[in-house]
Amino acid sequence: MKTVSDYFGENVFDDRVMKATLSAKVYNSLKQTIDEGKTLDISVANAVAAAMKDWAVSKGATHFTHWFQPLTGITAEKHDSFISPSPDGSVIMEFSGKELIKGEPDASSFPSGGLRATFEARGYTAWDPTSYAFIKGKTLCIPTAFCSYGGHALDKKTPLLRSMEALNKQALRVLKLFGNDTAKRVVSSVGPEQEYFLITKEMYDQRPDLRFCGRTLFGSKPPKGQEMDDHYFGAIKPRVAAFMEELNDELWKLGIMAKTEHNEVAPAQHELAPIYTTTNVATDHNQLTMEIMQKVAQKHGLVCLLHEKPFAGVNGSGKHNNWSIATDEGQNLLSPGETPYENAQFLLFLCAVIKAVDDYQDLLRISVATAGNDHRLGANEAPPAVISMFVGDELGAVLDAIENDTPYQGTEKTQMKLGVDVLPKFNRDTTDRNRTSPFAFTGNKFEFRMLGSSNSIACANIMLNAAVAESLKIYADRLEGASDFETALHDMIKKTIKDHKRIIFNGNGYDDAWIKEATEVRGLLNYRTTADCMPHLLDRKNVTMLTSHKIFSVEELQSRCEIMLENYCKTVTIEANTMVTMAKTQILPAVAKFASDIAKEAQSKKALDSSLSCEYETGLVKRLSVLTDTIASKTADLQKALIKLQDAEGIISESVMIRDDVLSEMCGLRVACDEAETLTAKSYWPFPSYADILFSVR
Ligand code: ADP
Ligand code: MG
Repeated sequence: MKTVSDYFGENVFDDRVMKATLSAKVYNSLKQTIDEGKTLDISVANAVAAAMKDWAVSKGATHFTHWFQPLTGITAEKHDSFISPSPDGSVIMEFSGKELIKGEPDASSFPSGGLRATFEARGYTAWDPTSYAFIKGKTLCIPTAFCSYGGHALDKKTPLLRSMEALNKQALRVLKLFGNDTAKRVVSSVGPEQEYFLITKEMYDQRPDLRFCGRTLFGSKPPKGQEMDDHYFGAIKPRVAAFMEELNDELWKLGIMAKTEHNEVAPAQHELAPIYTTTNVATDHNQLTMEIMQKVAQKHGLVCLLHEKPFAGVNGSGKHNNWSIATDEGQNLLSPGETPYENAQFLLFLCAVIKAVDDYQDLLRISVATAGNDHRLGANEAPPAVISMFVGDELGAVLDAIENDTPYQGTEKTQMKLGVDVLPKFNRDTTDRNRTSPFAFTGNKFEFRMLGSSNSIACANIMLNAAVAESLKIYADRLEGASDFETALHDMIKKTIKDHKRIIFNGNGYDDAWIKEATEVRGLLNYRTTADCMPHLLDRKNVTMLTSHKIFSVEELQSRCEIMLENYCKTVTIEANTMVTMAKTQILPAVAKFASDIAKEAQSKKALDSSLSCEYETGLVKRLSVLTDTIASKTADLQKALIKLQDAEGIISESVMIRDDVLSEMCGLRVACDEAETLTAKSYWPFPSYADILFSVR
């Protein structure tokens, strides 16, 4: 029998295959491109392309594609076959270095937010050699960046690579100051924990809201939800286990290190976590994971829901972005060290993150903003929309001691003089207790917990890398010019703690009192919706920071703001239209029919015996009749709100109308429909209930 190590990565053109199929010269020069970002010579590209093609063809591939991540948030591909005509009428399989390096998808219908004028409608894709090519089905997929001919990024990978470069540059400057001359690169790594729901295809097919919107727009609470906490880490049902087994196999073949799987809090909810890898590869892998989850589910007669809030009243799904930075020599810069000097370095990097999160709370909030995630943030299941940081009591006490020049009250009394004293050892366990913090230090990494389950992790990591690069730049500028390094270092750490301690909060992030304190006492930002936060992408401080590190151009930022707001408006509009259709063509007819049948029953009872009161029937018919009137009028109100959107002047104004009018009309309509569901006989209700769906997989 084949074991996992036999087939792990078998569909990936990874280092093992490169070593085996490329000449030493070509391999070394490709490695330099991968590890150090050196530009690739066309003769090397030709050799790599030929080897890639031979390898792919030997595995049954017939096509290749440049695989990229446009701003739609999903991945895109356009397949070309390898075939090329031969004079004798036969074909040969060909793939050139040029085709490997650059592609020209006809991509004029991808969102560009005005970046791609008509004359340059053909953006191009460019090979990203830092992420391995892989085979999916019969196609060789080449991870690529996607740009306009004007050089503007039209995708999520390009700014992510730029943000990694910015972080690398500034972190190396800081490391040099600590005497590290050997590290060549500093790379950010991520392990994203992915949550999802699995329901049966049979249930899914009967719900237009799930099919068109990925979430339910109606549904009264089931008699049993997650209140018993009996699903979390519970035994995995056989059908789910079969799904997970096949999913793991598929992911492993693609070199994705799927590691942990378990049931989540809500019924039908599960989680998958891979072993962490570089941010760029982790992003590609997470996109692939989401795609493969959906494909494998289908094979099992299931549907994998990646929406942030598929069911009201039950936990939604998020993605925990575990993030750290490390040198190419394997030193994790967010890990407390063994020597006083390493500790000072650790504290400086820690401070860089604290400063970054406080200075760029808005960018972090923006990076996770979608219509779907707005339903989740702050709903007592996910962190609130207010960003704060958890560092744990022990590290918190260390920071206090530094700020106040007082002894650290740890297990032993230790004076916290940087560069002299050894930091106390932190107990890892105590650092990971707080599950309510949006941004938690967990011993040697930070866990950013605000991401929605369907978000590409690129956005969050671009902002995180960028903001931390900016802190490090400010530190490096200051320290490079300091006459006394240690004093300057100590003062700077102290100043960071003083200036930014408002962002540190170790208490319960789900508590309403915290939101009050955060916003009223500490002055932290609370952007509750996408419409609230997105325009701040273009605030001067954000534009200045992101352009100074060459992560985005001004035009790219403008286009992204527009695209994200458009996406928000379109998503909610589709949901509203779906609600209108379901209310009019399914719910109203069903409730009216049920009410009329009950009325008829009452009539026939009265015909038998006119003294019968028929209180039950009369009361029910009356209530249902009020409800059908309410549903009809609320549907009309929602339609009016949708029509009014045409008056919006620009996308910001439209997004505000969506937030204030459309979403609230949707809520009102839903309340009436959900009550009708609780009063209508099950056999009349036109689609499966929450109870049917959530407990459908056995
Ligand atoms: P949890 O208690 O949240 O399950 P784990 O330690 O199991 O935490 O890690 C969760 C995720 O964090 C995994 O994907 C893991 O690979 C990743 N992770 C662990 N160490 C690091 C690190 N240094 N940098 C980035 N991610 C990491
Ligand atoms: Mg976690």
